[in-house]
Amino acid sequence: MTSPVTVIGLGPMGATMARTFLANGHPTTVWNRTASKAAPLVEQGATLAATMADALAASELVVISQTDYQAMYDSIGDADVKGRVLVNLSSGSPDELRRAGDWARDHGADLLTGGVMVPPPGIGQPGSYVFYSGPEAVLDRHRATLAGLGDTTFVGTDPGLSMLYYQSQLYLFWSTLVSYMHAVALLGTAGVSAQQFRPFASGTLEALTGDGPMGFLRILTEEIDAGTFPGGANSLRMQAVGADHVVEASREAGIDDAGPLALRDLFRRAVDAGHGADGLSSVIDAIRRPRR
Ligand code: NDP
Repeated sequence: MTSPVTVIGLGPMGATMARTFLANGHPTTVWNRTASKAAPLVEQGATLAATMADALAASELVVISQTDYQAMYDSIGDADVKGRVLVNLSSGSPDELRRAGDWARDHGADLLTGGVMVPPPGIGQPGSYVFYSGPEAVLDRHRATLAGLGDTTFVGTDPGLSMLYYQSQLYLFWSTLVSYMHAVALLGTAGVSAQQFRPFASGTLEALTGDGPMGFLRILTEEIDAGTFPGGANSLRMQAVGADHVVEASREAGIDDAGPLALRDLFRRAVDAGHGADGLSSVIDAIRRPRR
């Protein structure tokens, strides 16, 4: 028989996880602060735990999906977590996750933290993956069950790491797409549609991740890891002037300038720190040294 699992938290994510475990044949116990949300899952075969103690007693593996880490403390309260494997897939700051790791250990439980890299409909679907951190042997013990949610990508023993990876991916995702929206808004003031611009944006994004001369993801990675920022014909000073012009263009067009301003300020700070003749990768220096 497949191993039992308890799911705590039945928002869009937790409910989909519980449904996925049920579909994979796991005896599934659920608990939610608002118990009524469990009704559709009970119809599909889940057991609604009457109390948190019942929820914890039902399975060694306890998957938690709630708004934040405070919700876990609020929900578990004084219930006994000894001997349980808590897998918290909620969002939080890395330090919060580290404190949660200490809390679990102090209470005789193991904590795996995780960042789920798909929205609810993607759970358990091809391409779905979850960054996990914490005790790897504990993950290995439950990997087969957790793999039902998506690929189990272990990133290290530091409990904060899963969220660092998750947040890094989110930042990359959001900032890329927000930059695209800024470009579309800017061109839109001159009557250019998003559809007209999209092929150019696609070309740039593909080139950035490719191996050609515009393959800056690879180029920056190598330069940053080597700690050298060659400027060549593309000095950061020249690019900072170009960034000034993007700010001016946004203002002339009457659209928001917050994104270009943030980027321009980073460029300027790197130039002011002595990187004017260096290349774009030297901006990492300004990012690593926050403005005081
Ligand atoms: P929510 O973030 O809205 O979480 C809702 C769940 O949290 C409900 O079960 C709710 O209980 C519970 N909850 C919130 N506060 C408390 C509390 N103080 N005590 C007890 N329970 C509490 O919905 P999602 O399911 O979308 O997200 C869950 C987590 O997954 C979040 O951390 C989110 O960042 C993360 N995530 C979400 C993705 C998405 O696309 N939705 C993608 C990747 C990660 P109740 O029903 O009683 O209100």
